[in-house]
Amino acid sequence: MTEAQKTEAAMLKMKADNAEKVQKAQAEIKSQEVKESKNPSIQDLKNIQPKEEKSPKEQKKVDIKKYPFSLELGVNKTVHFKAWTGKTKKKFKKIFQNLEDPEDLNFKDVLEVLLKDNILESDTYLSGDEQQYLTAELRKESIGNSFEFEGTCPNCQELQDIKTSVTEAVIYKKSAFPTTIQGVEYVDILSSGAFDSISSDIINSTDYDGLTTEADIELGLHINIEGANSPLETLTALDDYSIKDLEIVIKNLDTVSSKMEMYVEKSCSSCGKEGKFITSEIPGLFDSLLR
Ligand SMILES: [Zn+2]
Repeated sequence: MTEAQKTEAAMLKMKADNAEKVQKAQAEIKSQEVKESKNPSIQDLKNIQPKEEKSPKEQKKVDIKKYPFSLELGVNKTVHFKAWTGKTKKKFKKIFQNLEDPEDLNFKDVLEVLLKDNILESDTYLSGDEQQYLTAELRKESIGNSFEFEGTCPNCQELQDIKTSVTEAVIYKKSAFPTTIQGVEYVDILSSGAFDSISSDIINSTDYDGLTTEADIELGLHINIEGANSPLETLTALDDYSIKDLEIVIKNLDTVSSKMEMYVEKSCSSCGKEGKFITSEIPGLFDSLLR
């Protein structure tokens, strides 16, 4: 398999993974029984803050001419991109070189090198939409803003060649954490390391119920309920919610979370009607990084 084929397969897998994420989010309503397990306290969680920014000496290495960008992901969340280095490029290539079958691609590895290795606040928890937005902005700042895609007219279903740019096509809504709605506080997850360790504590616990998923834990960590003093207590409290109340909590979390969409509004050259031409990817980034 050629490098280009691998890249294409990887992009397809990324799309599939994103679709799976959407399904997971929709399935969050399902049963959330959690039995006793190791119980990290909220205080522990709060103590694990995103890593401090590097010392001023190290910061000088950041090529701000090439990468002059910091990105505001939410009203209280900004990350700073570093320049892409020879070492990160090697690491990125290695993920694809060692790949026998595109199915084996662990997209987490790709994100690790593509995003986490390249932002100063590398322990920052990134939601799926935030990851997509960072990837789009990285594409804009590295190989360029403009791109083309084939879009289907929502009115006449004709395929159209759309010339656009990241600036025009990416519609991003910033997360608004922390926000309290109907007595429930919705917060961001501060540290991806803390999220991973709490998840594995719960899932690897000897009396793990086999039902709680990572998506359930993610939901629990985004919520502060009065009286619940740890992520586990929050999950247990959520288990006692009626399905209807749980749906409201999930909907409210969705309202304050970041959202990214990609579409261009234009009039169709076939039917003349104005419509949204949707795309699920911005081509070119992986190719350019593997070159
Ligand atoms: Zn049309």
